[in-house]
Amino acid sequence: MRIEYDVKLDFNDVLIRPKRSVLKTRADVSLEREFKFKHTETLWRGVPIFAANMDHTGTFAMASALSAHQVLTALDKYLSVEDWKKFTKQHASALPFVAVSTGIGETDFARLDEVMAVAAVPFVCLDVANGYTERFVSFLENLRARYPKTVIMAGNVVTGEMVEELILSGADIVKIGIGPGSVCTTREKTGVGYPQLSAIIECADAAHGLGGQVCADGGCTTPGDVAKAFAAGADFVMLGGMLAGHDECLGDVIEENGRKFKRFYGMSSTESMEHHHGLVPDYRSSEGRSVNVPYRGAVKDSVLDILGGIRSTCTYVGAHRLKELSKRTTFIRVTRQLNDVFVPYVVESGK
Ligand code: 5GP
Repeated sequence: MRIEYDVKLDFNDVLIRPKRSVLKTRADVSLEREFKFKHTETLWRGVPIFAANMDHTGTFAMASALSAHQVLTALDKYLSVEDWKKFTKQHASALPFVAVSTGIGETDFARLDEVMAVAAVPFVCLDVANGYTERFVSFLENLRARYPKTVIMAGNVVTGEMVEELILSGADIVKIGIGPGSVCTTREKTGVGYPQLSAIIECADAAHGLGGQVCADGGCTTPGDVAKAFAAGADFVMLGGMLAGHDECLGDVIEENGRKFKRFYGMSSTESMEHHHGLVPDYRSSEGRSVNVPYRGAVKDSVLDILGGIRSTCTYVGAHRLKELSKRTTFIRVTRQLNDVFVPYVVESGK
């Protein structure tokens, strides 16, 4: 057994220090990025934020709404091939902004092939809870060999050496995060995890050294957290909870005591496993929770709020483009970040 005594940081352990800036207005800030990927010839341009590939947020309705803002959606892996067919016909313009998700199960490859046969999907999101297994790496190698021109995002991991291994095995983008998610209970159930801000900083460094990219996945609760993830070096940021509760999400609106909610559950929760597999096998425990999140209407308003926040961050540090944000960032270690004295009395949260 060993102990590392370096302090590792989370989003709420830091703030971004403002810097002298010549930017006149946040309208001058561009959040668009252009990427060439390590293993493909593809050139992609857009706003590098993903809706998470969860049942609730990774929907076709989400993909068409977010594509209007050049924002990406990683579609839920359980969507049917028939629905993919319909989507590509009805929303062809949204296609450049979606990823098809897959796991490493026995039927996953065949399912992915079927989707790829009906839709020219630019990204594949190879997603497992634990990206440290040999089986995962060999699945990734096979996937790369089979789809040489598709951008592959693979994860999740939280350490530089594994980021390097995944990039060398065929990943263009490595997804970072173990345990930070809003409906994730991995840290409670297993004691495993890594504070997300430090994970992003260390993994981005490893990935960029090899010409790869990282996607910070999980743990953002405010637009400020999303800005901190980019400032820490994330090329992409994936959001679940921050996009939950909207019209475009899966599930009906629930009314309780005059308030409206939508059901949001972790993809390793009992609810998800029972829904997709009929049961939770005896050898594993649930590593996710189910929550009723306040209903929030159209996702557009939340997206504009998030993008507006990041533009404002860029203005504070003098970054004309999102690309410059991490270079212009100095984080300061803090012991308190928000003043929440009136939180119990809020009438309008401004989302
Ligand atoms: P959020 O943005 O809600 O904080 O985090 C979203 C991320 O949480 C997802 O993209 C996924 O990586 C992770 N996640 C989703 N469901 C579960 C789950 O049931 N268990 C765990 N450990 N992580 C989950």
